[in-house]
Amino acid sequence: MPVPLSAPRRGLLDGLGAGRLDAWAAYDLADATGSDLARLMAAAGELRDAGKGRTVTYSRKVFIPLTNLCRDSCGYCTFAKHPNDPGARTMTPPQVLAVARAGAAAGCKEALFSLGDKPELRYGSHRAWLAERGYPSTIAYLRDMCALVLAETGLLPHANPGALSGEEIRLLRPVNLSMGMMLESLSERLLEAGQAHAGCPDKAPAVRLGTIEDAGRERVAFTTGILIGIGETPRERIDALLAIRELHERYGHVQEVIIQNFRAKADTRFRSRGEPGAVEMARTIALARLLLGPEMNIQAPPNLTPDAYQFYLLAGINDWGGVSPVTHDFINPEKPWPQIVELRQASEEAGFELRERLALYPEYVRRAEFLPEGLRGRVDSLVDDRGLVRGEAERW
Ligand code: SF4
Repeated sequence: MPVPLSAPRRGLLDGLGAGRLDAWAAYDLADATGSDLARLMAAAGELRDAGKGRTVTYSRKVFIPLTNLCRDSCGYCTFAKHPNDPGARTMTPPQVLAVARAGAAAGCKEALFSLGDKPELRYGSHRAWLAERGYPSTIAYLRDMCALVLAETGLLPHANPGALSGEEIRLLRPVNLSMGMMLESLSERLLEAGQAHAGCPDKAPAVRLGTIEDAGRERVAFTTGILIGIGETPRERIDALLAIRELHERYGHVQEVIIQNFRAKADTRFRSRGEPGAVEMARTIALARLLLGPEMNIQAPPNLTPDAYQFYLLAGINDWGGVSPVTHDFINPEKPWPQIVELRQASEEAGFELRERLALYPEYVRRAEFLPEGLRGRVDSLVDDRGLVRGEAERW
């Protein structure tokens, strides 16, 4: 038997899509289930269609885990290793080039450099490794590896090295098509003992917001997002999305917002934590769409919930993120990326065209202030008049 909606919530749901959702309306919908959730998702889907049409994008990338040393200790992380761990590794230039060349041969356009945050501040052995090669910091080494990959393979780097200062962003900018760092959460509670970000100076909300703001000042197209299920409340998720919205309204540089779900991994402090389900993800995606508007690019990683492809599309995403034909997801190694044909099929069955994009979204490709001068020729050679990759090669 149908359950009647309360009058305020009915009014709220009826008005969705008419304009930008405000904070209090979002708080009110933060626990929507059943028919409320269905209407929330329908409104978000309509808003996505209004801004993005029925095209869903992905970036063909190769993943370069430059170093898995990190000064932070996130409760859910299996990527970071102690220098004494047999799996600890900082890639040498030949190793970086070998991975990049394999990616270029497989038709990738993006080199995603993902690495731990400022390991030299914690580990003397890493400081010495860098010093032997003439580098004062991991970021300086990263800059040269981005330049090397760009020069030798034509892959376009997207650096994801954690929190950055304005000076570090300026150093990386000429050799990066875009950059990224997940905001994850704005909750200070998560820094407390036993919480997800205990022992993680780079996860302090003010530090994360500072990096996103500095990227805006430096005119870097920036990818960020939230990680759900790490101890934050639904309201705190909304606060994080609102903070991203506010920075984007000020600088116009947030090219993409990722809604990522926590997955419990065996050898972590958070191995027994419950994982957010597909409904929670869909609700968060829909709220993100309604808070951030029709033009924002909203992504959910397809490899972390393979059964939910179409559910996420219904909830308002328009991008699947980076998908790699040649490297594992080093952050979630137990979750392989889907084959592109599988993504295409799921997208088409839901009524969407799947298109490849660069690490720079189409709306930024034609905005000169966001395109580093030295990368312009390479970008122009790759995109069509929509700013999407022309002549996608099917090599999967
Ligand atoms: S999630 Fe990132 S910042 Fe946290 S420990 Fe792992 S590598 Fe370091």
